[in-house]
Amino acid sequence: MGKREVEEQPQILEIWPMFCKSCHSENRREFNGEVAIHFPGLKGLDKPTVFVFAKLLVCLDCSFAEFEVPEAELRRLAEAGNGTSAA
Ligand SMILES: [Zn+2]
Repeated sequence: MGKREVEEQPQILEIWPMFCKSCHSENRREFNGEVAIHFPGLKGLDKPTVFVFAKLLVCLDCSFAEFEVPEAELRRLAEAGNGTSAA
């Protein structure tokens, strides 16, 4: 814990559980991410890609990553997903 970077979000990990869900490591870091979510299958080609700008929490031990989809994007995913049947 030598270096300390000043960031705009000083409360890292506050919204996250203490340990990695996969390997229970504490060795995780938060990143700003842009995730393009595509719908699977051929029918997914018709659906618009949903871009999510979210904080990613990456486990530096096992590579497990998690992020929270903001509500507006979550709604878009739910709406666009309606009527999709697995092809
Ligand atoms: Zn892990």
